[in-house]
Amino acid sequence: MHTKVLLNIMLASLISCIGCRKSETQKTALEAIEVILNDTPFPSETYLRIPYTLRFGEFEKEGLKLKQITVMDSQTRSELLKIGEDELEFMISDNTSLTLFLVPENLKHYYLSVQLPLPIDGARPRKVMHRLEFSDTVNNKTIFQEGAVFTPRYGETPMVINSPVKGNRNLFLSHSTMNYHFYLIFFNGDSIGTGPRFAFDQVEVNDAMTSSYEGDPCVNESYFNYGDTIYAAADGKVFEVRDGMIENNGNQMDQLPVSMAGVPGNYMIQDIGNGNYAFYAHLIPGSLKVSVGDIIKSGEAIGLIGNSGYSGMPHLHFNISEGSDSFWSKGLPFVFRNCTWVGIMDQGSVTPVNLKNTMPEQMSVIAF
Ligand SMILES: [Zn+2]
Repeated sequence: MHTKVLLNIMLASLISCIGCRKSETQKTALEAIEVILNDTPFPSETYLRIPYTLRFGEFEKEGLKLKQITVMDSQTRSELLKIGEDELEFMISDNTSLTLFLVPENLKHYYLSVQLPLPIDGARPRKVMHRLEFSDTVNNKTIFQEGAVFTPRYGETPMVINSPVKGNRNLFLSHSTMNYHFYLIFFNGDSIGTGPRFAFDQVEVNDAMTSSYEGDPCVNESYFNYGDTIYAAADGKVFEVRDGMIENNGNQMDQLPVSMAGVPGNYMIQDIGNGNYAFYAHLIPGSLKVSVGDIIKSGEAIGLIGNSGYSGMPHLHFNISEGSDSFWSKGLPFVFRNCTWVGIMDQGSVTPVNLKNTMPEQMSVIAF
């Protein structure tokens, strides 16, 4: 995958507003490490992914620098995942400057979202714990802290949907990975929003599985998915739409919105029942085929993949959330009812594997 392509989408999605009410806690930073979000696990073709979010006290104010987190089986103490300094950069803290429209203010905690990848046919630790390594810059030594024990929700299954796209060369970026959508947390007093937590950005690649466009990258039509039809992923009523926003040109990001409200570009929000909503964003202006109040069936065409809003290349941003607000509600994991794994980006084809109730890894090329 072109690093650039990934980066563009990453930039396109790095929206966050961070601010937090003052906390009354008197705990030291090290005592305050806990798991605050523990989501339903979901399977990819390779892993059962356990999504959760850690919250830390402001350890840097106590002269501590976090070096590494080891995620462990709390019974056997075997290592499940090591999170090194590269990934720790994505921790949301006072120092984070990833905001475009809102500035962090007085954040009293740090947050790190993790997708623990357990091998799909491997052991399932009953409880998961963490071992954190800090360098204590005041006393010039290394200290360790263990905690943030939690029980994965193995008994629960994620929502099953039909794919909102068709075709033989799909990539679903930033879903099954610790990556840009998954890190986003919006803060508002005591409540947090994680709407895009399990969002993917769909792109389409060539048969060689090396690129998502051919020709001039500054032109939307160069991208294989541009103008492809988007389909309803589930049955349900059209809740909200926006049309009329002009598009960026290819990877130029030259028509960006001026406020957070414009980030999704042209979009449709669909009420899919039980308080859950599907969100389809960055459509081509004028391409929406549905209106508010329409009752639509899964598989019905709703619009065309475009490059409107905060977008670094044509792509479909899709997510499901518990609540109609795409940012401020709780993002939910989901899986595709049926799909076929046909290759790996930059590596080429694999013997096709039919998958049921699976959300592929982000570098897997998927056919429907
Ligand atoms: Zn996105």
